[in-house]
Amino acid sequence: MKEINMSVGLNQKLQEAKNINLSESQERLEKMYIDGQWISADTGQTFEVCNPATGELVAKVADGSGIETKQAIDAAHLAFKEWAVTSAKERGKILKKAQQIMQERADEIAKLVVLENGKPFKEAKGEVNFALDYFDWFAEEARRAYGTLVPSPFPHKRLWVQSQPLGVVAAITPWNFPAAMIVRKIAPALAAGCTVVLKPAEQTPLTALAIAKVCHDAGVPPGVLNVVLGSNPIPISEEMLNNPKVKKIGFTGSTEVGKLLMAKAAQSLKRVSFELGGNAPFIVFEDADLEAAVDGAIAIKYLRVGGQSCICANRIYVQEAIAEEFIAAFVAKAKKLKIGSGFEPGVDLGPLINETARNKVHQLVEDAVARGGEIALGASYLTKGDYASGSFYAPTVLLKVEDLWPICQEEVFGPVAPILTFQTEEEVVARANHTNYGLASYLYTRDLGRVVRVSEALEYGLIGVNDAAGYTHEIPFGGFKESGLGREGGAKGLEDYLEVKSVVVNLAQ
Ligand code: NAD
Repeated sequence: MKEINMSVGLNQKLQEAKNINLSESQERLEKMYIDGQWISADTGQTFEVCNPATGELVAKVADGSGIETKQAIDAAHLAFKEWAVTSAKERGKILKKAQQIMQERADEIAKLVVLENGKPFKEAKGEVNFALDYFDWFAEEARRAYGTLVPSPFPHKRLWVQSQPLGVVAAITPWNFPAAMIVRKIAPALAAGCTVVLKPAEQTPLTALAIAKVCHDAGVPPGVLNVVLGSNPIPISEEMLNNPKVKKIGFTGSTEVGKLLMAKAAQSLKRVSFELGGNAPFIVFEDADLEAAVDGAIAIKYLRVGGQSCICANRIYVQEAIAEEFIAAFVAKAKKLKIGSGFEPGVDLGPLINETARNKVHQLVEDAVARGGEIALGASYLTKGDYASGSFYAPTVLLKVEDLWPICQEEVFGPVAPILTFQTEEEVVARANHTNYGLASYLYTRDLGRVVRVSEALEYGLIGVNDAAGYTHEIPFGGFKESGLGREGGAKGLEDYLEVKSVVVNLAQ
């Protein structure tokens, strides 16, 4: 397989990145945030955060474990008493303030996202702006946690149903959207009156600390939000799962880890909300606007963290009559994508998060090729020149692959587009649903009847019809099948942090 040379000048831009002001004090950014204080690990140990575009050290951060997690849970438990009874209006005001401060710091936080995650700066800024609007949405939703007065079947009784915050929430988040996945959890939790102990991914702790600083400066009281960091997630999650003060585990990450956490959470029947992996089908019918479909497929395949997103198109199905035309246009556009450091202007894709991720993607590609798949583009590591120290992978298009091969059954999590063809609507729906995942799916057609039939038949939590932009704050987001439990965002997003209580009042007493 031949390497494509897409080298761009990375080093100058990386120098620029180093000049950024990491918000007042570099020292603070390296520590955990517990009970309103910035603290080192009990052992004094640190772990390294590296830039996936260069392999260079970005920062050393406190390497915590169960001890600090327990401290954070105790602080969150204590803070819950007051935060739960703080009025929803007041909580909303603080969240609005957080939105405003995060907006002011959007460039600075986006630079941290680029440094530790690798995505292009423009995309990182888009993520930060998207993330901070969750503060806004849930600041407003906080005031709408209505109860109901229920007509009583007994003249001497009154019945009402009210919602109350769950308590301490433990949140575990991934590296691919280091800002959005955090705010999508902490904003509804804080709006509902819960307190939070957050463990961000070990690859991207700096963004989490910057968000904690935003909340601190917005007036979130000590203990209401805590951030524990660690190179090993297990002692931290064990404490979260075993500590009776924790009432809920909110997890975004792989289905594999989600299952482990669910089994352990069952021991004490903790509430769980899971946003897990995906295997999105992208279906193009012969009556679709072809150009829009190609643009949509390129965007949702390559331009979201270079394919490392749970809602990225994992399998592209094109109806036979237009397959040749679609493939030619898709490959032509994919060829033009620019790869490099997230600080390089005009870059479309950054590196994969690390070498393990790159190897996994390449193994899936090699397996497909060994089974008879055809390479239309890419299928290689990028290792020359400025790519030498980063985990870059060429945008790849594979043809003549089959539904049951690992490339179509597993979540690829990289810039690889397997394109398959189909004949009928019924056939493609069955093939699209033939997976254990059920997060996002896409269909392109101009036939309204087909829009209704196919969107009703697809077993996915998100259906993009002639749209590949993902979702927005106002609608709930989450998966069918092994893609998750519960929903984040929308009005449902608040409900998942509330417990429902029915009150029966006997007037005769
Ligand atoms: P991951 O499951 O490896 O890690 C996610 C988080 O869990 C990290 O904070 C990690 O430190 C922690 N973790 C890892 N192993 C653990 C263990 N044994 N016990 C406790 N915690 C553990 O996932 P990732 O590689 O960080 O993220 C990619 C995955 O996340 C993909 O599958 C992707 O689809 C999924 N994801 C889903 C959504 C969604 O909204 N559904 C959003 C983003 C990412």
